[in-house]
Amino acid sequence: MLLWDKIIDQTDAVNTLLKIVKNNNKYMPQSWLITGPPGSGRTTLAKAFAAALECGKNDCGENETNCPTCQAIINNTYSDVNFMSTQKPEYSVADIRQILLESETYPVSSPYKIFIIEDVDRMSDQAANLFLKKLEEPDDFIIWILCTTNPRDVLVTIRSRCSKIELKSPSSQAIADYLIKEYRVSKTLAMTAARVAGNHIGLAKRYALNPQLLEARSQILRQVINITNFPDAVFLADAVEKKAVDAGKIAVLELDIASADKKRQATRIKKDELDLLLIALLTLYRDIFVAKTALTDNLINYNLQQSINQAADEIALPRLLWCINQINIARRRIKTNAQTLLILENLFGCLNRRL
Ligand SMILES: [Zn+2]
Repeated sequence: MLLWDKIIDQTDAVNTLLKIVKNNNKYMPQSWLITGPPGSGRTTLAKAFAAALECGKNDCGENETNCPTCQAIINNTYSDVNFMSTQKPEYSVADIRQILLESETYPVSSPYKIFIIEDVDRMSDQAANLFLKKLEEPDDFIIWILCTTNPRDVLVTIRSRCSKIELKSPSSQAIADYLIKEYRVSKTLAMTAARVAGNHIGLAKRYALNPQLLEARSQILRQVINITNFPDAVFLADAVEKKAVDAGKIAVLELDIASADKKRQATRIKKDELDLLLIALLTLYRDIFVAKTALTDNLINYNLQQSINQAADEIALPRLLWCINQINIARRRIKTNAQTLLILENLFGCLNRRL
């Protein structure tokens, strides 16, 4: 499979970059900003672009058996393509100094020295200003490919110097087709994974390759929908929060960063896990709303159809909309420094069906 083929449902972006690669002219912009929602394929696109520029076969992007250069780029082991991501909440001045130093040296075996920087919105102000200076006067062999989900958080002077590529959220059908082709999973599993992942490619792949995660997700949704008293709500909130805390702790175990950064990163992962659950809850209440109003019979969580229909019969429409609002409020509060356990207890208490 070509690297370009791994970019799902982004025809415009791919065509724009392919055109650049094919023309390969000296007027090519040297700074790029790839934006798009989480899981839309920003990094994959950045690597496909880098591979196509470096490997000498224009739009090659072949896999390992056909092109060692492209494969090394995919694996972040190619000397002229520097891939930068961070486990820390912010890129520091020291991090930026290091890549600026690296950008002083000529490419070894390719036409360009390429830097792919993930989450470029996470530079501290000082780091961003330092980086900006380099961006203003690039050597002609340098290509910057910056990626972010939050372009508004990128320094405006950095943004304005980049050519922009905007990715959209890929469709469930396109993601399912990709999962079937690339991983040979069943049609039903592929479609379920794509739909419940909210069109996030990485998450859909995780679900398709680990169907037990889908089951765990359904189980929690089932538990939430069946909350009928406050002790149930407190008990479930406690279990959910513990699981998210553990996920954070496990994820930072092997990281080689300072312990304060580890703690911050673990908290971030915990919050991401909880946000994922709240998004799942939104799909559940969306389904109850759909079942109640018969707008469409297209349920996202169709394996919970029976519980969803039952809840649709029991919960009045104004209360249903109130519940959806409560989930959105909880999502916003989780992003602050408020205590996550209290937020969950309060939310699950609100979602009590007997209220
Ligand atoms: Zn190649």
